[in-house]
Amino acid sequence: MAATKENVLTFIHLFNDKMQEHRQALTDMDQAIGDGDHGINMSRGMKAVEEKLPTFEEKNIDDILKGVGMTLVSTVGGASGPLYGTAFMKAGMTSKGKDELTAEDISAALEAAIEGIKQRGKSTTGEKTMLDAIVPAKEAYDKAVGEGKSIAAALADAEAAAWDGVEYTKTIIATKGRASYLGERSIGHQDPGATSITYLIQAAKE
Ligand code: ADP
Ligand code: MG
Ligand code: MG
Repeated sequence: MAATKENVLTFIHLFNDKMQEHRQALTDMDQAIGDGDHGINMSRGMKAVEEKLPTFEEKNIDDILKGVGMTLVSTVGGASGPLYGTAFMKAGMTSKGKDELTAEDISAALEAAIEGIKQRGKSTTGEKTMLDAIVPAKEAYDKAVGEGKSIAAALADAEAAAWDGVEYTKTIIATKGRASYLGERSIGHQDPGATSITYLIQAAKE
């Protein structure tokens, strides 16, 4: 079973719902180690996406994902806007001309999203960022697909790995983004971006 365009649109709606639902919690997390706006940023960006979605619903999957990315870049100030925006735009480029996404297409989209975040953020895993959730999520996804699991089951494994990644961010020092200004004092706090991107994986699974 592949993911259809309808599935992709539902994923985007669900991610918006989650960003509205967890707005305060994500903001509180960012209050502890950053500037207290991550929930505000993500909820504002995804609300703008939700409002624009009817204008690109008729388009192909690649243009939908690119439209989401461009909307996030243009509506979210702060680090997360360009990073999430790049991730969606890069993922969109891998789905060019596709009516649906196979398990392998989804892996390629995740890979492109990760590479986009790394390039744009000049960052890698172990720096207490969103990469500490999405990279292990993608690894778990690939492993599950390799074992013959369905896309839904593989995304469930990916979500579990992403939550483990969120837990891991509590144990390390931030070396990228605003939280890096805190140095050792960032230990003990979970990274808001790792948390929001775990909700993205959860939305994809659902
Ligand atoms: P800002 O820090 O500009 O206020 P947000 O609060 O919206 O932006 O987003 C902060 C999140 O962005 C962090 O929790 C972290 O996960 C992510 N982040 C910040 N800088 C980087 C980077 N260079 N690479 C990857 N992720 C980053
Ligand atoms: Mg912030
Ligand atoms: Mg900010």
